[in-house]
Amino acid sequence: MSTYDRATRCPWCNRAHEAHTLVAGDEGEPDEGAISVCIGCEWPAVFTSDGIRRPTIAELEELRLDPRFRELAFAKGQAPS
Ligand SMILES: [Zn+2]
Repeated sequence: MSTYDRATRCPWCNRAHEAHTLVAGDEGEPDEGAISVCIGCEWPAVFTSDGIRRPTIAELEELRLDPRFRELAFAKGQAPS
């Protein structure tokens, strides 16, 4: 796992993030559309060119059905419903 500095603010709980730890995918900065999970509220967000945003309903539904995200969400005790 690698960690990189990138200041963002959670679109759900407003928590400031100074860095992100990569848990899946290619090394380096995340592409637009990559998923972030807030260390505070544990809800997912989507990387944009200048930060992170709330997922759309369609993206949440996609995440809900993604076994990788389900494993992560259930390990932390919640999943989008
Ligand atoms: Zn949050």
